[in-house]
Amino acid sequence: MTPEQLANSYLAALWDGILPVNPIKFANAIGLQVIPEESLQGCNRSGEYREGVIAFNPGHHSNRTRFTVAHELGHHALQHGPSARETHSFGYSWKEQQANEFAASLIMPREAITQLLSEGVTNLNDMARSFGVSPRAMEIRLERLGYL
Ligand SMILES: [Zn+2]
Repeated sequence: MTPEQLANSYLAALWDGILPVNPIKFANAIGLQVIPEESLQGCNRSGEYREGVIAFNPGHHSNRTRFTVAHELGHHALQHGPSARETHSFGYSWKEQQANEFAASLIMPREAITQLLSEGVTNLNDMARSFGVSPRAMEIRLERLGYL
């Protein structure tokens, strides 16, 4: 199963259809605790993988936190294990790419993008606002789907 297919199975089982998608609900639904971690504020890390826990940096913008939580949820859902955390410092490892693809697919569902486009929403910033993501994250997702 690809990360997008896995994200779609989460959406099918747990999403209420409301935008923006709240990844914390998904994490809680599979028994993960999502907690703000003050100690992350001093470094520029946005999140952390621990057994049963997703810790996020409470100093970051809600858009970034949404992506971070979805990314960490991806590591759990894809069963990357504790080593997922170590790979963060290396940037584009395979596990990082997989977690990013899961996150993008979860919080910018393909069907919701198709729906917005059919309603005539084509402005990148408007679309990013609907999904609660940065314009850059939106752009990458649209590229991946072949819309840009
Ligand atoms: Zn990661």
